[in-house]
Amino acid sequence: MSRDTYTEFVNTSVGKRLTKALGLPQPARLRRHRPGEAVVRGPVVVVGTSSASDEIAALLLGWGLDVRRHVEPRERVSAVIACFDAVTTPADLSETVLGLGRVLKQVGPSGRVITLYRRPETAVDPAVRAARKGVEGLTRSVAHEMRAGATANGLILAEDLDVAAPSVAGGLRFLLSGRSAFVSGQLLTVDSVNGTLPQDWDRPLQGQVAVVTGAARGIGASIAEVLHRDGARIIAVDVPAAGEQLAATANRVAGTALQLDITAEDAGERILSHARQHHGRLDIVVHNAGITRDKLLGNMDAGRWDSVIAVNIEAQLRMNRALLADELFNRPEGSSGPRIVSLASTSGIAGNRGQTNYAASKAGVIGMVAATSAQLEARHGTINAVAPGFIETEMTARMPFATREVARRLNSLNQGGRPVDVAESVAYLASPAAGGTSGLTLRVCGQNLIGA
Ligand code: NAD
Repeated sequence: MSRDTYTEFVNTSVGKRLTKALGLPQPARLRRHRPGEAVVRGPVVVVGTSSASDEIAALLLGWGLDVRRHVEPRERVSAVIACFDAVTTPADLSETVLGLGRVLKQVGPSGRVITLYRRPETAVDPAVRAARKGVEGLTRSVAHEMRAGATANGLILAEDLDVAAPSVAGGLRFLLSGRSAFVSGQLLTVDSVNGTLPQDWDRPLQGQVAVVTGAARGIGASIAEVLHRDGARIIAVDVPAAGEQLAATANRVAGTALQLDITAEDAGERILSHARQHHGRLDIVVHNAGITRDKLLGNMDAGRWDSVIAVNIEAQLRMNRALLADELFNRPEGSSGPRIVSLASTSGIAGNRGQTNYAASKAGVIGMVAATSAQLEARHGTINAVAPGFIETEMTARMPFATREVARRLNSLNQGGRPVDVAESVAYLASPAAGGTSGLTLRVCGQNLIGA
């Protein structure tokens, strides 16, 4: 992983004074999840007058949090949840948004703002849809205004979904916690009442078996570690050439290693047979393996184009067909349904110079998860994607210094994310508490300024 020496310097007392005086970016040390720690450390303010706001306050009280409907001026708060679920016209936004504005300056370092509202696309009435879309606009703007590692995200509820649905609690907890440290300016949708709450929030994947492709190093290795920490048994997959590093990952997480090139015709079948033989079940598949072969399109050759498409998307499509056809993955006993999480990229959303092949493959992943969602739903499962922005890995450490430094600062948190930040989002989407979210692409990019 590359070192961000600027962020280290800013977080010394001399560095802070100097960089502030020069008006330079102020990346903060982000609060990240540690098992056993409270979801948030200080008061949580619930703003809004809808009945949902009372239900949310009761839910948070049930978690033992210090929940407030009002706070004293200058009192530090850890999070604000603003409930916009009952808005019917843009004029309705004002009371709750101004209430949010009054406490915003009191949100402490790595604090959280969460807006809660109904899905805009299902509103037929233009005024209702305008009001709901308005919440999206204000949420993304608040995220740009947050300081000191604090974030703002939206939690969208399907039209008639009960606020008591498990994934509403799951989504709120994820967004409040240090698991979402590098997620900002994003909208997480809960579509259905599917999903279950874990007995132990620190071991949500207890007893489940997860496959992680590309697990020898980088983000994949981190995903294996986080899924293992959350209770899963791991099957670590990577190419034979990475066998030594793959064995090291598998040993670290007390899992099994499977040397496999995922572009092999029978890759899905080989994963299923390994899972059947060594673990007797398969609950979670994380399609993380990916490659880049950058070239401007004018200089692109068939080898570069075809290999990226083959690894990053064709292999996933083929493996999914095999997995979904097999009983082992269809109804894992005692779990809340099969889970697939794929790695996309912000390049697949915004495009990137020199990456037509990579962006085509990653936009393909986004389309694939949306289209596969119905098949998973029929099995009480889910499929989602995570789109990382700039993440500190071996890959990004190889970028030229100036390019890397610019890419790193071009987001609302003024720093790159860590592999663990991507892994936490993958683990959340793989968990029983996310059973109501499917077909979605969640960006883990610190609100990258490129690509919305
Ligand atoms: P990485 O290159 O460090 O690791 C990728 C792993 O996948 C390697 O261990 C490699 O051996 C394995 N792999 C490649 N081809 C394979 C194949 N055919 N079969 C099996 N394994 C194969 O990459 P990373 O930075 O950790 O990225 C992981 C994923 O996240 C990729 O899908 C990547 O596109 C995506 N991503 C990364 C970033 C970033 O900033 N690093 C940003 C956006 C998206």
